[in-house]
Amino acid sequence: MIDREIGLRPGSRIDCHTHGGGENPYGKFMGEYPFVQSVCDLRFKQLAGGIENTIVFPMPGTYYYRIDRTTKEFWRPSGLMHFPYEVENEALLRDVEIARQLYPEGIIFPFLNIHPTECVGQQIDHLDRLMQKYGFAGLKFHSSGTNVDAEALINTPFIEFMRYYNIPLIVHSGVFKPNAHPRHALLLAYAHPDIRISIAHLAAWDKNILEEIKRLPNLFTDCSPYLANFTSVVKPGHEAFVSPNRFISTFAEAEETLLELIRSLKGKLLWGTDEPWTTYNFDTGELILRITYGDEVKIIEKLYREGYLSEIEDIVNKNPQRFLFGSS
Ligand SMILES: [Zn+2]
Repeated sequence: MIDREIGLRPGSRIDCHTHGGGENPYGKFMGEYPFVQSVCDLRFKQLAGGIENTIVFPMPGTYYYRIDRTTKEFWRPSGLMHFPYEVENEALLRDVEIARQLYPEGIIFPFLNIHPTECVGQQIDHLDRLMQKYGFAGLKFHSSGTNVDAEALINTPFIEFMRYYNIPLIVHSGVFKPNAHPRHALLLAYAHPDIRISIAHLAAWDKNILEEIKRLPNLFTDCSPYLANFTSVVKPGHEAFVSPNRFISTFAEAEETLLELIRSLKGKLLWGTDEPWTTYNFDTGELILRITYGDEVKIIEKLYREGYLSEIEDIVNKNPQRFLFGSS
């Protein structure tokens, strides 16, 4: 168990969605940026920006699969490991151990990646061993790294694993690819109302899903990467990334819209950056956005300076504690 008893110091801030400990194999082979970040590099950026605590999980992909640069095929076993995320999960935990020694301030909450349908028994045995050896604080599911949707988790032993250790789950979401649609995570949450689930990336701003996140006690969402999310709503050409039935806002200013989200989501919003995906390129060679970790921090600092202390405390401290530990 990780610091469950300690919790977060009042006033200290946590980033609830970051990646580290290795590489995104598919992105590396296909020329997508970013594809790598160590936990030590992440902590350097966070502590320079005054963010003391973090949730961190591996990148979405796994070298369990062979990546064919010619066909872009990704779903045949490579022979490099016995089951998905075998190496990536332990690499993250080892990187976390080093980062804790290098930067002793703050708390790191590692989450480990899971694949709902491939070698599940071996994954569970491994997760049990890693929990005993290192400890970790939650699980992460990404549809692009596994080619399945979150509903596939409903009847798996991962549910009992989370129940046993009282740990939550983060589910990637978006509307660009069908298996990432947030409704899959919603069905998982209906099936297991005692499992705390965060539907990441504002559920692609889908108004109805956000209403359900407010209504169901076990659901949360994170705003990561907030400036990229905001840009996808206001910038022409990004429509494919946003639900057509989107959250109602003027979207005039990033800070104002964040406040509207905090107030609307009433205790369910978690602050997160998706670092290193604060900025990215897909495979075009040009950055789609030019945003840094510091730009994301500036948004919450500006609101804090303007007097929205309790609103910011909710998303960087109070809501995350309820998500992580199941009580306020
Ligand atoms: Zn992410």
